[in-house]
Amino acid sequence: MVTGSALLGFTSDWSGRFTGEALAAVRPKNTEQVAAVIRACAEAGVAVIPQGGNTGLVGGSVPYKVTEPCIVLVLTKLQRLDAVDTANNCVVAGAGVTIARLRAHAQAAGFEYGVDLAARDSATVGGTVATDAGGVRVVYWGTTRAQVLGLEVVGADGEIVDALGAVEKDGAGYDISAALVGSEGTLGVITAARLRLQSPLPELNKFLIGCKSWGHAREIFNKVAMSGVGVLAAEALDLATMQTVREVNSLPPALPNDWPVYLLLELDGVIDMPQDLEATMAMDASDRLRLWKYREDASVSISTHPNVHKMDVSLPVQHLDDFTKSLAEELPKVAGVARWVVFGHVAEGNLHVDVAGPEFEDFEVDEVVYRLAAKFAGSVASEHGVGRVKPHLLELVRQPSYMQTIKRVKSAWDPNWLLNPGVL
Ligand code: FAD
Repeated sequence: MVTGSALLGFTSDWSGRFTGEALAAVRPKNTEQVAAVIRACAEAGVAVIPQGGNTGLVGGSVPYKVTEPCIVLVLTKLQRLDAVDTANNCVVAGAGVTIARLRAHAQAAGFEYGVDLAARDSATVGGTVATDAGGVRVVYWGTTRAQVLGLEVVGADGEIVDALGAVEKDGAGYDISAALVGSEGTLGVITAARLRLQSPLPELNKFLIGCKSWGHAREIFNKVAMSGVGVLAAEALDLATMQTVREVNSLPPALPNDWPVYLLLELDGVIDMPQDLEATMAMDASDRLRLWKYREDASVSISTHPNVHKMDVSLPVQHLDDFTKSLAEELPKVAGVARWVVFGHVAEGNLHVDVAGPEFEDFEVDEVVYRLAAKFAGSVASEHGVGRVKPHLLELVRQPSYMQTIKRVKSAWDPNWLLNPGVL
């Protein structure tokens, strides 16, 4: 149990933007201890904020604006990691295992785990399942949802539900595990997951291509994907992101000329690059790392600026240009905006808009970005979740009947609304 000043590490988030007060942080070592903590909290009427690696960017893992008495339930000590099941191509991992450890474990057995993201050294199995994390391999293997075969969960009453399962296809009743994916700690606490493993990655060719716009980058991706070459990653960044990453990491220019958008493709084959495009292909391992760094370091590089508001949206791909053009018109009008960058996963139309400048408590810029996404039929939450920042925005993208159903599900699973209050 952590109390006093040591609590701060558990009550503030990765970005430093969201912070709150808790009675204590509790770090159980196994599923039975998780269940005991939740039972005690249920009896005392104390709310529970589940926390994994605390890399979430929407205030869901910390008691931001939580007014009722609460504890932070830190799950990083749940380090179960079974031997890889090489007959069924899967593995059971505890909620606290990091994505980096899980990937290394899978690779040592000749497999790959299908989700990878820049926060891999801290982000956990439990947190990535709870947020349905995406990352760079979604275009090839899907989000975390596509990797989950079963879960072990502790419910709001402290009951342990073993839904890890043992078979690939299981139609015996409701899929409890599926309901927990993306539930952001509001329906139950995930203590372990049985996760699908993929075949190892083939030798990859990396290309960086200068593009005229976001729509152009999406068009190039689509042409390549339709040509039959396997696309393992399709990431993109705008010129402001490129300049920020280069400044912070003292990197050379990626291409001879500046381009509005850069597309980074990882392919299992080669493509004939049209003559009118400026592009480069990585020739060796260090070159591959260099090209990847321009995109991988985007989030961390912009975060060296003060007061970064990190936003995550999805757009129908035909509106990528409408959205980014409107952003360029609207953001300079918002008081305090000093710099903004746009980067993301171009195959899914998933853009991260990081804006530096306005005070953390000032949400005007967040509202502008999310309302623009909704205006162009996009989603206000693509892969980071809803957290405590965006529940009021859900009505922009969900029907009232949908919201009613969500509330009924929540009440059925957590009648006293003690699991992660204020989230979703
Ligand atoms: P936390 O931040 O601790 O928690 C996230 C949410 O899950 C909270 O609501 C929490 O209550 C809940 N939760 C945590 N553990 C459990 C559990 N065991 N049971 C029930 N609920 C739980 N995200 C992406 O999807 N793709 C990216 O490419 C990506 N890149 C990132 C890059 C950087 C540099 C950073 C800082 C973040 C990035 N993220 C990305 C966001 C973040 O890493 C993901 O949301 C990740 O899934 C959070 O995992 P975590 O273990 O840190 O969870």
